[in-house]
Amino acid sequence: MDCLFCKIVAGEIPAKKIYEDEHVVAFHDIAGQAPVHFLVIPKKHISLLTDLSVDDTFLAGHILYTAQRLAKEQGCAEGFRVVMNTNDMGGQTVYHIHMHVLGQRQMSWPPG
Ligand code: 5GP
Ligand code: ZN
Repeated sequence: MDCLFCKIVAGEIPAKKIYEDEHVVAFHDIAGQAPVHFLVIPKKHISLLTDLSVDDTFLAGHILYTAQRLAKEQGCAEGFRVVMNTNDMGGQTVYHIHMHVLGQRQMSWPPG
């Protein structure tokens, strides 16, 4: 399968990894949109958030748990934003689900 994030999981494409366990990998976004901007992805290939099955609920929770834990570690205890762009209208560009974590700047609402 020709998936960019599967290649990062496999180590075939380099990434600045900040955390890895048996379920997830977290790494800095190549085009950071905030002083802190990293992605948390499952090692398992799932293209879209809407492809999650009930068997993935632990994994989904673990992505969220990892995101907030690493956000605190990266100096974002005072606030941060998590985003999962989903499908074309949601602005998704890489079709392997990922949670963006952005912080260390003031966020505004609504997002674009
Ligand atoms: P999306 O637009 O799908 O929500 O987010 C994809 C993110 O992946 C973008 O923020 C983009 O900058 C990031 N990205 C794309 N290619 C690479 C890459 O090769 N390495 C890293 N670290 N991030 C990437
Ligand atoms: Zn993938």
